[in-house]
Amino acid sequence: MSSNAFETVDCVVVGAGVVGLAVARALALAGREVIVLEAAEGIGTETSSRNSEVIHAGIYYPQGSLMARTCVEGRRRLYAYCAEHGVPHRNCGKLIVATNDDESTRLVEIKGRAEANGVEGMRLLSASEATAMESNLHCTAALLSPSTGIVDSHSYMLALQGDAESRGAMLAFHSPLQRGRATENGIEIEVGGTEPTNLRCRLVVNSAGLHAPSLAQKIVGMPSDRIPTAYYAKGNYFTLAGRSPFSRLIYPVPVPGGLGVHITVDLGGQAKFGPDVEWIPGIDYTVDPHRADKFYAAVRRYWPGLKDGALQPGYAGIRPKTVPQGAPAQDFTIQGPVEHGVPGLINLFGIESPGLTASLALAEQVREIAST
Ligand SMILES: Cc1cc2nc3c(=O)[nH]c(=O)nc-3n(C[C@H](O)[C@H](O)[C@H](O)COP(=O)(O)OP(=O)(O)OC[C@H]3O[C@@H](n4cnc5c(N)ncnc54)[C@H](O)[C@@H]3O)c2cc1C
Repeated sequence: MSSNAFETVDCVVVGAGVVGLAVARALALAGREVIVLEAAEGIGTETSSRNSEVIHAGIYYPQGSLMARTCVEGRRRLYAYCAEHGVPHRNCGKLIVATNDDESTRLVEIKGRAEANGVEGMRLLSASEATAMESNLHCTAALLSPSTGIVDSHSYMLALQGDAESRGAMLAFHSPLQRGRATENGIEIEVGGTEPTNLRCRLVVNSAGLHAPSLAQKIVGMPSDRIPTAYYAKGNYFTLAGRSPFSRLIYPVPVPGGLGVHITVDLGGQAKFGPDVEWIPGIDYTVDPHRADKFYAAVRRYWPGLKDGALQPGYAGIRPKTVPQGAPAQDFTIQGPVEHGVPGLINLFGIESPGLTASLALAEQVREIAST
C-alpha cells in the first residue's frame, strides 16, 4: 500500500446488515462523515435477512450482560423507531410453554431472570388461561411476554439506510474491504470490487457479521490474540402452508445453543417453525428436508394438531458464534481501542440473536466509543 494513494475519510462502516446500518445512522446523526462498504449487491443479504424477525423482550440473557442490556433498550427504541418511521411491526406478544412439571418450574426461573433484566409485564399462566388465549395450544403452564413482537426487517433496514443517507452517509455496494493497516495517521484500507480504491480512515467499524473475525485478521496491527475464532451454528426453518394456528409467538422452554423450535408468525399471518441448532464447519444455507422429523416431534409437544406432511423446508440463517459447541453461551463483544489497543478500530463480534432487536442500542454504544 503506497501512502500517497489514499483518500481520507472520517468513518468507514464495514457491512450493510442491520447492525452496520444502525451504526452508520448513529454516526451520521452525530455529524460524522460516513461511508458504508458492503461486499454484496445490496443491504441485508446475510444474517439480517435470515432470521425470525422477532422483537425480543430481553428475557433469557444473563443479568447485566451486553445482550440483556442492549436487547431491553434496543427493543424500546425499536418500537418507537418503527412507529415514527412507518416500519411495519406488531406487538403480538409471546407465550413460553411448559409441557411437564420440570418445565413449569423453569418458567418461574425464566420469569425471575426476565424481571431482573427489566422486562415489563411477564405473567405466569395456568394451562386453561393459556389455552383461552390460544385454543390450539397444549401445555401444563405458560409464561406470557407481552412486549415481544415482530418486525419487517427489510423495511426497518431501508428506514435506517434512508436516515443515514439523508444525513450524508454514502453506501458503496460491491465494495469488499480486502485488507487494512493501522498507522499513526489512521487505518489505511484497500477496497476491492467494481471500483477499487484506497482509503485512510479515522474510524473503521467492523460490522461484517459472520466475517468479522476474518476481517479483523486482515488488519495489520490488530493483535491476533484479541480476535475470536469464528464458529457457525445454523438455524433451519420450516414453513407451514396456510394461516398460522396461533396469533402469538409460541416458544418452548429454551434448549442449549438456541431458543428451541418455536413458531413465529409473520406480518402476513403465515407461520414458520425454527430455528433449530446445527453446528456446521463453514457457511452453508442448505436446509436438509430430513431435519423435519425432529421438528414434528418438537412442535407436537405443544401443538398436537400439526399434521403429517404439513412442514416444508424454508430457509436457514447462521449464528456468528465466538465459542464452540458445548461451551458456555457467549455475550456480544464490542471491542474498541481500550480492549485491543488499535486507535480508530471498533470490532463487533458474535452479534447473533437478539442483534436485530438490539441494533439501535448497539449503534449507540459504538457511537459513544467512537466519540471518546
Ligand atoms: C437463525 C437466526 C435467527 C435470528 N432471529 C433473530 C430474531 O428473531 N430477533 C433478533 O433480534 N435477532 C435475531 N437474530 C440475530 C440477527 O439476525 C443478527 O444479530 C443481525 O442480523 C446481525 O446483523 P449484522 O449487521 O451484524 O450482520 P449481517 O446481517 O450478517 O451483515 C454483515 C454484512 O457484512 C458484509 N460483509 C462481510 N464481509 C465484508 C467485507 N470484507 N467488506 C464489506 N462487506 C462485508 C456482508 O455482506 C453482510 O451484508 C437471528 C440470527 C439467526 C442466525
